[in-house]
Amino acid sequence: MEKYDVIICGAGPAGLMTAYTLGSTASGSLKILLLDRREPWREPVCCAEVVGSGMFSSLLPVDPSFVRCYTSWINYTSPKGYTAGTYRKGRSIILNRAKFHRWLWDRCLEVGVDCRYNAAVKALERRDSCWDVTVDKGGTQHIISAPVVVDATGPGARITQDIPCLKGIESGDENLALAIFAVAEGVPCNKEALQFFYGSAFADGYGWIFPRDDDAVNIGLGMSVGAAQGLSLRQKLLDFIFRNNPHAKIRTICGGKVPLHGTHQRPFAMHGLFKAGDAAGCVDPIWGAGITEALFCGKIVGENIPDWLGKTDAEERRHVEERVFDQWMDSCGYFYQKSAQSKIIMNKITDDQWDVFLHHLSDLPQEEQTSVLETLSSSPWLWPIMVWQIYVGSKNKNFC
Ligand SMILES: Cc1cc2nc3c(=O)[nH]c(=O)nc-3n(C[C@H](O)[C@H](O)[C@H](O)COP(=O)(O)OP(=O)(O)OC[C@H]3O[C@@H](n4cnc5c(N)ncnc54)[C@H](O)[C@@H]3O)c2cc1C
Repeated sequence: MEKYDVIICGAGPAGLMTAYTLGSTASGSLKILLLDRREPWREPVCCAEVVGSGMFSSLLPVDPSFVRCYTSWINYTSPKGYTAGTYRKGRSIILNRAKFHRWLWDRCLEVGVDCRYNAAVKALERRDSCWDVTVDKGGTQHIISAPVVVDATGPGARITQDIPCLKGIESGDENLALAIFAVAEGVPCNKEALQFFYGSAFADGYGWIFPRDDDAVNIGLGMSVGAAQGLSLRQKLLDFIFRNNPHAKIRTICGGKVPLHGTHQRPFAMHGLFKAGDAAGCVDPIWGAGITEALFCGKIVGENIPDWLGKTDAEERRHVEERVFDQWMDSCGYFYQKSAQSKIIMNKITDDQWDVFLHHLSDLPQEEQTSVLETLSSSPWLWPIMVWQIYVGSKNKNFC
């Protein structure tokens, strides 16, 4: 049986960052294995590929090879088409995630991580203080063993479900939202802007049009599983695309799940099993964004594992596991818990209220639009309050 110190399951942003952080810190002293069931750079990567440039560059150098483009505007559009926007130069990066995965995979190889793709994790079993990981490679099953395993397999984290000793761990499978997008040509798009669409057509989510590095756009929508019930999301997407762009040409359509509960009060790690990224529910519940969250979470996990391995006492190891959760909560988790609560109220904003609010905002000078929308993005719980204030104010004015 092969033995490692750490086995990381899943080479998306969370798994790659965990592996890279561990490999860099351990400098050859640990045997680290990174597994993915597919080639992580195989297209299409199911993602709209947007990250905030500030947060991303605080985690990794921004290599031009994986940048599609930068955008500076975030525009919000109401059901009747009123648009207000906020501007900060180069605020967002549209990644080429396939190239990004390849880039980070190569960095992992450089720091001594054993990386294997087309290697699917089929089962996990705890035995003699270690984890036995059953891996399928090319139809043959192997068992590989390690005291530490990282579940970075994305939303739902199936490989760690139903394991009795992990009862109570974060599962990343609650309040899942569905998101679907097309890469399409013939859809007009401001190359400098991320464009978001709100209103009942997108139920408790939103629609988007994002630029890419070519003539195409990434156009999509996301909504909760509940709101999407009985609907064909694909049909909704096609309606969204062709309503205003009858000659659009679709290159590809792709969809996936996003955990939107905004962090529970549940541990991320138990008995040497650590979770990272979507598998730990580390996603911004307002935007459904999880790339930088996965990188950040992977970094925390990777930084703490050597300490866990250095301890022998079960209680001391439990403290390290708790520290991972605390570090996430202090940096993002509490903010996302609060955001998730305000999302519930935000979902009650009506089409009329969106129209009045964004109409009002679009009449303000650009600096004021930016100032209001920046306040809302740093304190998302103010969205419903501000929308209703302006809505009620405008109705009263009309009445007078
Ligand atoms: C349509 C859509 C659009 C999105 N747009 C954005 C966006 O614009 N910006 C943003 O920040 N976030 C976006 N997200 C969310 C973002 O994609 C995720 O939050 C992010 O990918 C999470 O990274 P991760 O590493 O945790 O999981 P993933 O990226 O899902 O990676 C998990 C990896 O594990 C592998 N794997 C799974 N099971 C196994 C197994 N059994 N054995 C081995 N390997 C396995 C998978 O092949 C995969 O490579 C979007 C999501 C969707 C669905």
